[in-house]
Amino acid sequence: MRVPEELSHLLRTIREPIVCSKCADEIAAGTAGAVSLRDYTRLEAGLTARGLQLWCIRHDLNVAHVDFDNSQPEVDFRCIERKVN
Ligand SMILES: [Zn+2]
Repeated sequence: MRVPEELSHLLRTIREPIVCSKCADEIAAGTAGAVSLRDYTRLEAGLTARGLQLWCIRHDLNVAHVDFDNSQPEVDFRCIERKVN
């Protein structure tokens, strides 16, 4: 899919996934069954008074909480969808 350079940040550009350590442990131990960590993890993301929190729905615990340090970083909520012909 050709995307203009100014929109390329809207494509998946994750370099280091953030994962729930308990989900990762269960995948590593084989107790989650034959499933990938990406398919097993159930994360919820949302804005908080502090910044951005990632929450594991499966384990009901914090995965990461990013502190915006009272700044307002630029956030782009647009998405790009592939055309189905
Ligand atoms: Zn988890």
